[in-house]
Amino acid sequence: MARIALLEARLANQIAAGEVVERPASVIKELIENALDAGARAIDVHVEQGGLASLRVRDDGDGIAQDDLPLALARHATSKIHHVDDLEAVATLGFRGEALASIASVSRLTLTSSTDSSGLGWAVRTEGREMSAVVQPARHPRGTSVEVRDLFFNTPARRKFMRTEATEFRHLEEVVRRLALVSPQVSFSLTHNARVLWQLKPATTEAEMLRRLSHICGPQFVAAAHPLDQEAAGARLHGWLGLPTFSRAQADLQYFFVNGRMVRDKVVSHAVRQAYADVLYHGRHPAFVLFLDIDPGTVDVNVHPTKHEVRFREQRLVHDLIYRGLHRALAEVRPDDAPPTGS
Ligand code: ADP
Ligand code: MG
Repeated sequence: MARIALLEARLANQIAAGEVVERPASVIKELIENALDAGARAIDVHVEQGGLASLRVRDDGDGIAQDDLPLALARHATSKIHHVDDLEAVATLGFRGEALASIASVSRLTLTSSTDSSGLGWAVRTEGREMSAVVQPARHPRGTSVEVRDLFFNTPARRKFMRTEATEFRHLEEVVRRLALVSPQVSFSLTHNARVLWQLKPATTEAEMLRRLSHICGPQFVAAAHPLDQEAAGARLHGWLGLPTFSRAQADLQYFFVNGRMVRDKVVSHAVRQAYADVLYHGRHPAFVLFLDIDPGTVDVNVHPTKHEVRFREQRLVHDLIYRGLHRALAEVRPDDAPPTGS
C-alpha cells in the first residue's frame, strides 16, 4: 500500500482548477468578477490568440494592499467572507477564495496592484511546487491588473481540449457580454490581437442603457424588446422581454441574472417557458434579458464552484413570481403590433 501524503500546493490547486478553469472564457469570468467585486468603474480586457497565449484584465477598483498580495494567490484565502453566517447571504460574486490560486497553478500569472494614486504598487507571482509568492515593486495606477499567459502549459490533458482561437474567443466574448449587461455602470473595453473590438461607456441613463443593450444583443432585439420592472414578495424582476414576434430558432439570446449572477436554473427556465407558451410557436425560443433581485438569504449560491447554479429556498415562490410577471407583461403587448423579425 502506498503511504498517504498531503498534496503539494500546486498539484492541489491544479486539481481544483479542473472544476473552475475550463477554458480562457472561465479565466475571464473569474477576473472580471473580481474586478466588479473590487468596485471597478472601468475594466479593460486584452486578449491574445483567443486567450490561449495571454489575457489581461485591468481595473480601477480598490486594489490589494502589499501585505495581502501573497494571500490573493493562495487557496482558501478571500476578503469576501469570514464566517459561516456570511455564507448564508453572499453579497459578492466571489467568496470561495479559489479562482486566482487555481488559475495561477495552470498558467503563468502575474497580479499587479496598487491601493493609492502614487503610481506605485506591487506585483506578485508564484514559484515552485508550493507556489511560494514572490512580491516585487511595480508601477501601477490605483486598481489591479491580472495577466495570465500560456494557459494550461503545464496541464497537457486540458490543453488538448482547447478549440481554435476563434472558438475560444467566441466563448470569452460571450462572458464579457454577460458581465457587461449586468454592470451597466462600468465601462468596458475588449481588445483581441491588438484590435479594439468593444468600447462601452458607462450607462447611467435609460438611453445609454439601451445603447449598451443594442451593442450586446443587437438593435433588432432592442426594437422588439418590452421593458419590464415589477416588484412582488420583496423581490424585483426587471429587464427586457423580447416580443413573441422576435422569437428565435435557438435559445441563444436568453440572459437571466439572479442578484447580479448569470444563472442556468430549471425553475427559472420552466417559469419563462410557461409564460411564453401561449404566445410562441412550438420549437421557437424567446429572447430576454432579465434581472431578479431577491433577498440573498433566500438563495444558495454555493452549489458549484463555477456558481452557474443556484438553489432557491422558496422555489414555488420564485417560479410564480417570474411566471406571473412575464405573463402579465406579455399580455400587455399585442402581438400584431409589429411585423415578425428575428432569425
Ligand atoms: P474570491 O474572489 O472568491 O475571494 P479569488 O481567488 O478570485 O477569490 O481572489 C482572492 C482575493 O484576491 C479576493 O478575495 C480579493 O481580496 C483579492 N482580489 C482578487 N482580484 C482582485 C481585484 N481585481 N481587485 C481587488 N482585489 C482582488
Ligand atoms: Mg474571485
